[in-house]
Amino acid sequence: MSGLDERFRRQARNEAIFREVNERIAQLGQSAQAWSPDGVVEFLCECGVDGGCGERIRMPLEVYETVRRQDDRFAVHPGHETPEIERAVDWTDDYVIVDKIDAVEPQVADDPRGAPSS
Ligand SMILES: [Zn+2]
Repeated sequence: MSGLDERFRRQARNEAIFREVNERIAQLGQSAQAWSPDGVVEFLCECGVDGGCGERIRMPLEVYETVRRQDDRFAVHPGHETPEIERAVDWTDDYVIVDKIDAVEPQVADDPRGAPSS
């Protein structure tokens, strides 16, 4: 699949950037349980549209951890999925977890934790 629109490649790279921001937020959430007594943390939507939509998503830290375990998975605001480059694998009223299609995995493979793609 080589005909992928440059727009989607750029969007996928943006998502990888927001993932890094959310990694910081997750670290804060772990060290400051005080502001997340129920384990729910406010992350940034990782959809990467137009350089970032700025929406926040509420997600339990433990769910976030399961998303991060695979480096081609991202958490986005409901309705912010981009079917051209990802498919939804889990969803709630607060967030949707998406799995990247193979064509854009090279754009998102630099996981900050270095987890192998699966
Ligand atoms: Zn978004």
